[in-house]
Amino acid sequence: MSELQFIHDVDKCIGADECGEICERICPPDIIEYKEEDGKRIPYVTDIELCMKDHGCQNNCPAGAITILPPQEDGRDY
Ligand code: SF4
Repeated sequence: MSELQFIHDVDKCIGADECGEICERICPPDIIEYKEEDGKRIPYVTDIELCMKDHGCQNNCPAGAITILPPQEDGRDY
């Protein structure tokens, strides 16, 4: 089984202030938090073990900045 990964593209991310903290708000186990980087608040995962693999952050990010691997069945193509 491939390892679960939260991959975040900092260049694509528009920052939590701009998007309204979508990835944090959509996460059922509430494991996304933000840190300041290059003048924007960007997400990181506090405990990947708790990830429910619903791909909500990936699928709802308006900037397409998040990729969760392994991919969702019938989900986005990579
Ligand atoms: S990754 Fe997407 S949803 Fe999360 S803060 Fe950045 S733009 Fe917003």
